[in-house]
Amino acid sequence: MTLLCERCYGPIDPDREDFFRLAHISHADRYGDVVWNDATVHTAPSCPALVHSGGAGQRRRAA
Ligand SMILES: [Zn+2]
Repeated sequence: MTLLCERCYGPIDPDREDFFRLAHISHADRYGDVVWNDATVHTAPSCPALVHSGGAGQRRRAA
């Protein structure tokens, strides 16, 4: 399974790049069970979107 970064939309190489796994609530079904969406995001120093914008290591909101 290919992992994609939610911040830069680029692929994540799990063997060479640092990343987080995130879980977002999608919705609850009629029985009250929560359906989760799993996502991944590079850590700030590994994300091209932040490194190339000069924002690595700063607290920034993902685009
Ligand atoms: Zn990224």
